Amino acid sequence: MQFENTLAFAQNLDAEDPLRKYRDEFHFPKVNGKPVIYFTGNSLGLQPKRTQKYIDEVMTDWSELAVEGHFRADKPWWDYHERLAAPLAKVVGAKTEEVSVMNTLTVNLHLLMVSFYRPTAKRFKILCEEKAFPSDQYMLQSQLRFHGLNPETAIVEVKKRDGEHFWRTEDVLAKIGEVGDELALVLIGGVNYYNGQVFDMEKITKAGKSVGAFVGWDLAHGVGNVALKLHDWNVDFAAWCSYKYMNSGPGNASGVFINEKYLDKKDIPRFEGWWGTKKEIRFLMKPEFEPMPNADAWQISNAPVLSVAPYLASLEMFEEVGMKSLIEKRIKIVAYLEFILQEIDRQTDGSFEIITPKDRGCQISVFLHGQGKSLFDYLLKNGVITDWREPNVIRLAPAPFYCSYEDMYRFGQILKQGISRK
Ligand SMILES: *Cc1c(COP(=O)(O)O)cnc(C)c1O
Repeated sequence: MQFENTLAFAQNLDAEDPLRKYRDEFHFPKVNGKPVIYFTGNSLGLQPKRTQKYIDEVMTDWSELAVEGHFRADKPWWDYHERLAAPLAKVVGAKTEEVSVMNTLTVNLHLLMVSFYRPTAKRFKILCEEKAFPSDQYMLQSQLRFHGLNPETAIVEVKKRDGEHFWRTEDVLAKIGEVGDELALVLIGGVNYYNGQVFDMEKITKAGKSVGAFVGWDLAHGVGNVALKLHDWNVDFAAWCSYKYMNSGPGNASGVFINEKYLDKKDIPRFEGWWGTKKEIRFLMKPEFEPMPNADAWQISNAPVLSVAPYLASLEMFEEVGMKSLIEKRIKIVAYLEFILQEIDRQTDGSFEIITPKDRGCQISVFLHGQGKSLFDYLLKNGVITDWREPNVIRLAPAPFYCSYEDMYRFGQILKQGISRK
């Protein structure tokens, strides 16, 4: 499609957008009395209006039923979390039994490392991308120290090539081959938080498995964003948060995927608690742990229902819309944003550079050549919420659920004024 940098063209794209009515389903913050142009759905998704109802239900059940709410609420709390598995499995390309919702992301990665990082004298190395998200780096380093290993030698980082802003799949595969039978685990952010790159998860998983390593993915930026087929790709495990593209609220519950081949096994190491034991016998308070036959075996505590409720509200929307149409719009709106950026860059004599490769999801990261933080502040004052990363990068994620093509056009105009101002 031949794009145009005009208001009329953008409005026309909106008129044809099958998802346009969903914009009204979200609360937008306001600046100068007008809804903002929101580019940070990759950091904290906007609040769906229907979420309030899900929270209120739990609050009402709590006030009217108190402890009886565990069994007598319309959505009883004792198995409330089970409602999320089926719709979430569709989002990540899994079987329902392979998915569970619990805890928070870094906590879940630690817990999954108990099962999937079991170093031996020979096989103990972990492969990840260089400059992984800091929490993931701290997680890996502390796991290694916990096992008495030295992170300096046990962590193998795949680097970008000099002068390039992205990782090459062939470099990841070569590194996996090089480490070979010393490789215990591959754990990478499937969609990179900084440059927005989508890794070739299928190929990398296959390569990791072929040298005998476990392969896991941190999908904080992948879930609700790109097409995932965790089951078909033969991924061992994955975890993600729900507050980025999945719009479930600050710090909210995390999801995990555990390949079905590890389910209903008694010999897999795992940290356990009463919510992971068979539901039929959970309240018999017996001393023996009998795992749930699905990913819920990794559950530990009784579910934090007030944080799971917004996730359920969000999943209802994903269920209605489906990943296919979200991805269709995402591809188009990101392409339109890229086009607008290129236009503005031309009109302002090359004042920035796009560092996101073509293998991308919802995010475009822009490296500013001239002014940095002051431009970010200017955008914010003028109703555009972007995200600033050192040294000079602005990240833009036009979430397809609620961003409009007109937002992209208006952003371009504000950006141009911001660059041209003195
Ligand atoms: C957002 C993000 C996190 C956040 O972890 P929490 O435990 O939810 O605070 C972790 N890893 C990656 C790759 C992220 O993008």
